[in-house]
Amino acid sequence: MKQTAAPSLAAAMLEEARRRPRARRVWAATGILLLVWANLGWVLTRPEHFVAPTLITVTGDLGNWFAFNGIVFFLALCWLGSRNPWLERSFGLDEMLLFHRRLAMVTVVFFAGHAVFRSWSISMQMGMVYDLSLLYRLRLSEWPLTLGRVVYFAMLGCAVLAYVGQAMQKLAFRHWKRPHLLYYVLFPAGMLHAMLWGNDMGKHPLVDLWWTLMVLFAVDCALRLQYVRRQRPILRWRLDAMYREADHTVTAVLTPATSAARKSALIRRWPGQFAVLRVPDLAGMNEPHPFTLSGAAPGAAHAAAARALPIQCTIKEAGDFTRSFLRLAPGTSLLVEGPYGKFLHDVWSHRALALLAGGVGVTPFLSLLRSMDAAGQHLPTVLLWSNKSRTDVFAVGELVALCRRLPLTVVHCLSRETEDFVAQSPAQQGMHWQSGRLDTAAVTRWLTGEEGCYACGPEPWLAGVLRSLQQAHGIHPRQVRREHFFW
Ligand SMILES: Cc1cc2nc3c(=O)[nH]c(=O)nc-3n(C[C@H](O)[C@H](O)[C@H](O)COP(=O)(O)OP(=O)(O)OC[C@H]3O[C@@H](n4cnc5c(N)ncnc54)[C@H](O)[C@@H]3O)c2cc1C
Repeated sequence: MKQTAAPSLAAAMLEEARRRPRARRVWAATGILLLVWANLGWVLTRPEHFVAPTLITVTGDLGNWFAFNGIVFFLALCWLGSRNPWLERSFGLDEMLLFHRRLAMVTVVFFAGHAVFRSWSISMQMGMVYDLSLLYRLRLSEWPLTLGRVVYFAMLGCAVLAYVGQAMQKLAFRHWKRPHLLYYVLFPAGMLHAMLWGNDMGKHPLVDLWWTLMVLFAVDCALRLQYVRRQRPILRWRLDAMYREADHTVTAVLTPATSAARKSALIRRWPGQFAVLRVPDLAGMNEPHPFTLSGAAPGAAHAAAARALPIQCTIKEAGDFTRSFLRLAPGTSLLVEGPYGKFLHDVWSHRALALLAGGVGVTPFLSLLRSMDAAGQHLPTVLLWSNKSRTDVFAVGELVALCRRLPLTVVHCLSRETEDFVAQSPAQQGMHWQSGRLDTAAVTRWLTGEEGCYACGPEPWLAGVLRSLQQAHGIHPRQVRREHFFW
């Protein structure tokens, strides 16, 4: 069969990077449009209140304002949290989930504002200063209002569980994630409460907005259901091999186990992207965990060539999932979702690169260097890689070979090794060893400040690196693209 020439890796990645900001602007504009619609609706449905405001109308209207905006935020949360594939293509899953977390807090505050101000207004209508029971009482006789309260408390409960589990790491994934699915019921239940209890919901343009939000919610549910029912069960990959890289670090090689997996989006992955892995047949391992696809990415290569490449992830033991993962036997079946992320999409817009890695945070950079090598395209690159000791370092032989083939300098910064150890380390072309942290002195020595900077590693390490870049070369943290490994 005749094949047309595939675009080069650089050209294809640049095109991908260019497409995203455009799509992001469209999504941002859609969100803003919905908010403008909600606020316009709020103004247009109560003109008389602006002419002769009273404390009762002001508090009531403020309560409604919180609800109208809150419901738009709630819809955005559903789209972000359901890993909506359309949004994912524009923002990347990591950015979506981080934004989801922040927006969730704002949404909870908005619905609290709704409850507090509406209750205040109703209390005054009843001739009371504040009837606190309006915030929590559950009466069947006023069931649409009771429904609103139930929705709010359930929403708050799920948010607290997620915070304790995700941010504080005090709750197992399944214990906060399963209740989180309740949000798919809470959104329509909240809308029902608004329709039945809200006195302005039937008026234009609010009624049109509510129907639009419901349709958007239904579309999101349909996309997720389609994935869960049709895609998920068949996107099986097989653990072909697992080899030890360093202490507590392995590389797992996976090949597609079904024809659906062979045709999945993963064959068009880009350097530095990640996949979400789970082991559905093993108890305790059916939770999605993200890992970078550390091998060479076929990117724009022909589908046939891309399919021939297995995927690989380099995994360091961190907790229960990774500990069990390190003990998996070849042949184990895995569910692999992705590819996600856009950390390195714009590397080709720079003339030179500075890649700063902390520990296993090197995996996106290994993927990039391997991809450059495979595609025969490269940029002058300095990889500054921090580890505690020599036993944490892996892929040394491969990096030495890459230093010979690419305009690459690799600097290992080993915080727990002595100067003596470094003096004894064999000098190799392009590869350097130094004791101590990746600090301002190291950044000054190895970087010119002209490179495009990319950093990936644990949060405290990242904070130090950003400080060093600023002190050494005046590089503002905003100029440094970062990948967060621990959401
Ligand atoms: C985009 C991305 C790429 C990553 N790439 C790699 C990689 O190439 N190699 C590697 O070794 N590690 C990688 N990680 C980190 C890896 O996902 C976590 O180490 C792993 O999920 C920890 O799970 P655990 O149960 O073993 O440890 P736990 O003790 O449960 O968690 C350790 C830390 O990992 C984070 N974490 C736990 N579960 C999840 C989850 N489901 N989703 C996101 N973060 C979680 C938490 O912040 C937690 O503090 C990556 C993470 C992200 C977000």
